[in-house]
Amino acid sequence: MRSDMAEKCTGTLGKVAKPVLETIADGVLAWIQPEGESGVSNAGVVVDDDGLTVIDTLMVRSQWEPFAAAVRELDAPVRRVVLTHAHIDHVGGTKAFPHAAVYASPPTNAVLDQGMPIDAYKAFMPAFADEFDDLAELGTRPVTHLIDDAASLTPRAEVLPASGHSPGDVLVLVADVDVCFAGDLCFFGVTPLAFQGNPAEWATMLDAVADLAEVIVPGHGPVGGEAEVRDLQAYLRACVAVDGDPSAIPSGPWETWLERDRDTINVERAAMLARGHDEMPPSMLDALGLT
Ligand SMILES: [Zn+2]
Repeated sequence: MRSDMAEKCTGTLGKVAKPVLETIADGVLAWIQPEGESGVSNAGVVVDDDGLTVIDTLMVRSQWEPFAAAVRELDAPVRRVVLTHAHIDHVGGTKAFPHAAVYASPPTNAVLDQGMPIDAYKAFMPAFADEFDDLAELGTRPVTHLIDDAASLTPRAEVLPASGHSPGDVLVLVADVDVCFAGDLCFFGVTPLAFQGNPAEWATMLDAVADLAEVIVPGHGPVGGEAEVRDLQAYLRACVAVDGDPSAIPSGPWETWLERDRDTINVERAAMLARGHDEMPPSMLDALGLT
């Protein structure tokens, strides 16, 4: 049953311009948007006997409409949506799944109850500026079920609270096929963004992520595994070690990553936290047009 449904939407990444719902394990599918730069995130689907669990919902209509259409092709009810955290590039498409229960952490729940800072989104992600008014009008669905502890959501999918990237990170583990949906605890081939995170704590958390599963679906970039997690960990540790000076980050695998202008934000955030200042880095305020 599971594999029949999954095979309906199998595709090959890298040979197509548009994302496809790719089967990465029996009854586990990933929607990987190419490149994974700002506003371009991944999503996933886990197939259980009672229907589907969708993990994250992308951001704007041009992204989530084709994803939701591919999910409909699986011809099973979407029972649950799990939001890995509150950032808009993961929660913008919740209305595409109107009948699903929405699971997220208490901090994500709090953010979704607030208005959207649309002007800041337009400043930070100008490539999608034309679509944010539509998103603001549409809004997002509220969280219906809080995740405040590790729990078995379905016979296959376990939700695990985590920390490091945002105030309310959640991972989804599908242990029977050794797959973890890591949300933005993992960026592969893309510089991570820690404006609300804690680079030191995040790097430590990645020890646990590396041990969780062989296959890791990141929030941004292609599917990977422990090698990619260790590269990310080394980068975050470098951001902490340079103590406020992004030009001191040594060379490493991150030379080829996208979005390296985030170095400044990540290093500034790490240095502020080291001094007891848990605030938005000024470089991020600049990027959001808030200065
Ligand atoms: Zn994020």
